[in-house]
Amino acid sequence: MTILREIGKLVDRLDGVAVCDGCLTDKLHLSVPSQANVVTRALAAEARYERKKDECGLCGSAKIVIRRTK
Ligand SMILES: [Zn+2]
Repeated sequence: MTILREIGKLVDRLDGVAVCDGCLTDKLHLSVPSQANVVTRALAAEARYERKKDECGLCGSAKIVIRRTK
């Protein structure tokens, strides 16, 4: 499975809960946060995801997060 799909699935599973790149990196055991960053930027181009600065639902930090919107 590609990282894009893995991250997409995880964000879908969170069902509207925002998650930051750092938490995605931890959850999916990616080697570097920049991998998650590239993917969340790609996902943000899709209408069903939203990426913005907000509080992460997992670690509680105010960061750039991504969430499923519909
Ligand atoms: Zn987080």
